Amino acid sequence: MAILQSYGAAQVVTGSCHLLTIEGGPTILVDCGMFQGAVEERNFDSFGFNPKEVDILLITHAHLDHVGRIPKLVKEGFGGRIVTLKSTMELAEVVMLDSAHLMMEEYQTRYRKAKRRGAEAGVRQPLYTSDDVQVVYDLPMTFVEYDKPVKLAKGVVATFRNAGHILDSATIELDIEEKGAKKTIVFSGDLGNRNDMVMRNPETVKKADALFIESTYGDRDHKGIAESVAEFKKVVTETLLNRGNVLIPSFAIERTQEILCLLKRMYDDRELPECRIFLDSPMAIRATKLYDSFHDELSEECNDYLKRDGSIFEFPCVEYALDVQDSKKINEIESGCIIIAGSGMCTGGRILHHFKHRLWNERNAVLFVGYQAEGTLGRRIVNGERHLHIYHEEVVVRAGVHTINGFSAHADQSELIGWMQSFERLEKVFLIHGEYDKQKIFKTAIAERLKKKAHIVKWGEEIFL
Ligand code: ZN
Repeated sequence: MAILQSYGAAQVVTGSCHLLTIEGGPTILVDCGMFQGAVEERNFDSFGFNPKEVDILLITHAHLDHVGRIPKLVKEGFGGRIVTLKSTMELAEVVMLDSAHLMMEEYQTRYRKAKRRGAEAGVRQPLYTSDDVQVVYDLPMTFVEYDKPVKLAKGVVATFRNAGHILDSATIELDIEEKGAKKTIVFSGDLGNRNDMVMRNPETVKKADALFIESTYGDRDHKGIAESVAEFKKVVTETLLNRGNVLIPSFAIERTQEILCLLKRMYDDRELPECRIFLDSPMAIRATKLYDSFHDELSEECNDYLKRDGSIFEFPCVEYALDVQDSKKINEIESGCIIIAGSGMCTGGRILHHFKHRLWNERNAVLFVGYQAEGTLGRRIVNGERHLHIYHEEVVVRAGVHTINGFSAHADQSELIGWMQSFERLEKVFLIHGEYDKQKIFKTAIAERLKKKAHIVKWGEEIFL
């Protein structure tokens, strides 16, 4: 008997953390992500299980909501083996170090404020530090390759398939044999959008006795990519020609590379007005370089660029703002900039400084090209809030606000269902990694289109497999 319990990404999008207990076999954790947005306080709660009892940690991909609590897991006693792709661990290091850095900054600000009130003793320590991140890399690790089964323990084999979501993201198939009975449990991981410029399409899977599928966009279909690209080009071109600047809050991984790819295509086709493009995020710069070095599984377009230019994403307009001074200098430029900066949901990072300097000006435009979770500053701007507090200053939003959904790194409802239709045998379906309201809509769509009953997983609930 195997039991699955989700301790994150259960009726929410973030905090992916799924514990599989196999009777007489290893205890396996699939992902150990951070909660973000409205639910971020949960990061400080106990995991709901004992990290010391986990033998193996499988990682689907390096997004913060899939890897962000690994240092906490290790701090609380996890000493087992990590199994994933090599590039995932490299990207995860960039992601976790960035997160540790942001948390430390936030802690120091709170500490300073509390000290003025004489209340510094009560200030909560950050979830982890960069030293804690380094300790993760002392653990034993097995690096897998796509489509090559790896034996995790007697009767337990894992196969990673390309999920086409971000660099080297995976769907994980677990084949378990217990007392002669075989079953396949599949974790979709985050599934990519089939129209992505940078990634290949998600790999199909043949069979699952139990499928745990993400449902981020289970409630809807994205706008067509052609329409989104046209909208993107229109906002960029009009804003630049109107002597404004374009601010793009962007996730450092995948979205940034996709946007760079699109801007490069515009430049090649002479569609890009004269401008300076700033990649103002050390994390995005590092991630972009990793994409360049682990390019085998990227799209043909990327590999063509690499052959032609020696780099996938660089071209004459692009400048990297690695240190703070470079970033501050961007403020001196009045117009004609495209600024790509993190964090993707505007919960921290350099985008906030650019917001403070430029949101008040109606010539500028903010282009949201990624998912904005409930409770984040990004979501509030998307929802039309006009008066914000950024770094102790009131900022009015007069810049144009544009949301372009077609760039999602996630499959939409039709793609998720299409992916499930490609299974030769699909038994039970469990929905994870989605907001509850959206999951209910997805569940109905699965019932109608696949004639299957899907179950929406609750936090900690025991699912017997
Ligand atoms: Zn993801």
